[in-house]
This record gives sequence, structure tokens and C-alpha cells, in this order.
Amino acid sequence: MLLRLRPGPTPSDLEVLQRVAAERGFELAFLDRGRVVVELVRKAGRPQPGDRGAFEDLAFVAGVLDASDAPELSERTPGREDTIQRVGEAAFGGPYVSLIAGPCAVEDEERLLEIARAVRAAGATALRGGAFKPRTSPYSFQGAGREGLERLGRVRAAVGLPIVTEVLDPRDVEAVAEVADVLQIGARSMSNYGLLAEVARTKKTVLLKRGAAATVREFLLAAEHVLARGDEHVILCERGVRGFDQVTRNVLDVGTIAHLKRVTHLPVIVDPSHAAGRAELVLPLARAGLAAGADGLIVEVHTRPNETRSDGAQAISPADFAELARAAAALVRLDGRRLIVGKEARESAAKTEKLGQPGPRATR
Ligand code: PEP
Ligand code: MN
Repeated sequence: MLLRLRPGPTPSDLEVLQRVAAERGFELAFLDRGRVVVELVRKAGRPQPGDRGAFEDLAFVAGVLDASDAPELSERTPGREDTIQRVGEAAFGGPYVSLIAGPCAVEDEERLLEIARAVRAAGATALRGGAFKPRTSPYSFQGAGREGLERLGRVRAAVGLPIVTEVLDPRDVEAVAEVADVLQIGARSMSNYGLLAEVARTKKTVLLKRGAAATVREFLLAAEHVLARGDEHVILCERGVRGFDQVTRNVLDVGTIAHLKRVTHLPVIVDPSHAAGRAELVLPLARAGLAAGADGLIVEVHTRPNETRSDGAQAISPADFAELARAAAALVRLDGRRLIVGKEARESAAKTEKLGQPGPRATR
């Protein structure tokens, strides 16, 4: 490991540095006459994911220049393959791409069932829908709460799709985990470390959304909070960051998707709906995300967007979602990957292909 110290470290700073280094099994050597660049060479013990942080936290350390010999848990070490996260039939990472779709919020149960059936037929392998909604205004619809969870449970049983749903409050983790196959941590909660600790205790798959103004380092360290507590099932989600313009709701950070695929072994999916904020931009942003290397998409779909109390403007129709699934299948095939779709969607694709239209050819 290589550290850069602030200029003019005092003898007491160096003493502390010596002590921390020795505790973690390192010997240190200064690489320059000014004694600000330090090389830490491991002499004992095994690398710990906390090694980097132990030095980064010291007041007289200006920065860690290289920590490749003390990787954190989310890091893609040389030669490390993608971690593949599987949920029901869905798989994210490596050669697999899957689609999560559904309404922003759980509202009417009949409607939820209708949407679930429609997205399953079109190629989704997981259903999204929030029972607890993180709304900017306390006067907006906050979600159907526990009653919403029950609706999700019944629809899950009827349709057979795994459920992705958000948990906002550590006190609800247990109840949400009873219904959810994937616990979603929303952008507003990314740095709620108490909540991250609580979801990690369930050992379930965690879909971690990037905060609207979070740096990549902050995003990865939020994932580390879950991983460090022994839950290895983390999927990262880029959903757009805050920009200076309001022409789109957020700015889909395509460069970061490509960057994350290099620096972490965790699957990375994209939420084009919250990035776009407008239904007509969802398809192009979905394509951009997949082209940048995303391992899946989470998309808001609604059969009656004018009736929903949450994010209607960005909801696409089942027909548009089916088109998105076809585009996704074709796109990921270009780089040797496969879109996983369920049996029903496979069969309907086979039919449309007979009619001469390309359908989502798929699966494992
Ligand atoms: C959502 O998925 O409905 C949501 C609130 O997303 P985000 O946390 O990314 O804003
Ligand atoms: Mn939403």
C-alpha cells in the first residue's frame, strides 16, 4: 500500500503511523527525502478489507495512493470474474442480463396483478413495486405500507415472479423481508448505514441504488456496509445523478456504469425510469445502459399511468416494455450475453418470430 502524508509529519504522527502499521502487519519505508510518501509492506497477517480505511482515517494522511494489496470486498481484484446474483429465474452478472419491471408504487391489487402478468408476458423475470415510498413531499402518497406488502405477497403467489420492493425504515426490514426476494434501498437511503446494517442481517439480495449526489466511492462504500456484515448478495443500481438541467429528471451516468463494471465484481443494473422522468426517454436510456455494460434493468411499467399517484409520467406501457425487452435481447446478444426471460415470454417470442418479427430470443 502507498500513502501520501501531509507535509511535515511530526514525530508523534510517525509514531502513530508505526503503531497502526505494526498492528495491521505492515512495515513501513519512506520513498522520498521529504518523508511524505510511505510504502507499507506486509510482513505478517492477511490483507483485511479494513486496511485502507485504517490509514485513510489518520489526520496526517493526505491520501491512499495505492491500495491494490488491501482490496475491499466490492473490488474486482485482478482476474476476478463477475459475481452472478440469481433471484428466481432472473440472473444478473457475467453473461446474464435480466429485467425487473412493475409499477412505481403498489396501489390497487387488481391493477398490480394486471401489470405483473403483462410484464411477465413481455419478458420481466422480477416484479418491482414500492409499498413504502420515499416521497419528497410528506403530503404526497407515501405508499400502501404493510397492506401493500400483503398485496405484493398475494400477487407473487399468483404470478410467480420474485418481488423487488423498497424498505425505508429499519423497523420494517423484517416485514419487508417476509415478502421481498430483493430488498431495495432507494437513492435517498443509500447512506442510511443503520438501514444497510439491518438489511444485511436478512442475508437477502439487496438492490442498492446510487444516491442522487453520491460519488462512486461513496456508492461502493455503501455496498461495503452490506458486504462487510456478511451479506454477499448486492446488486448496484445507477439511476441518474442530479444535474444542472431539468430537461431530464436526473442525468444517467453512463460513464459510471462502464467504470463500475471494471472496478467491482458486483452486478450493476440501470434504472432508466428515474433517470428519464419521462416515458418517451426510457427506451433510449435503457439501451444506453445496456450498451455501457449493465447487467439488467429496473423499469417502471403501468397499464393506466394517468391513474397512479406515483411517477405516472415516467411509466411505460406493457407494449413499450415488450419492445424494450426485444431491444435488450438484441443489444446484449451483440456482446455475447443473454437476456433471461421466463417461459411464457419465450413462447410468445417464438410465435412472433414465426410471424417474421424478431422477439426476445432468450434464456440460459
Ligand atoms: C423507486 O424506485 O421508485 C424510487 C423511489 O427510486 P429512487 O430511490 O432511485 O429515487
Ligand atoms: Mn418511482
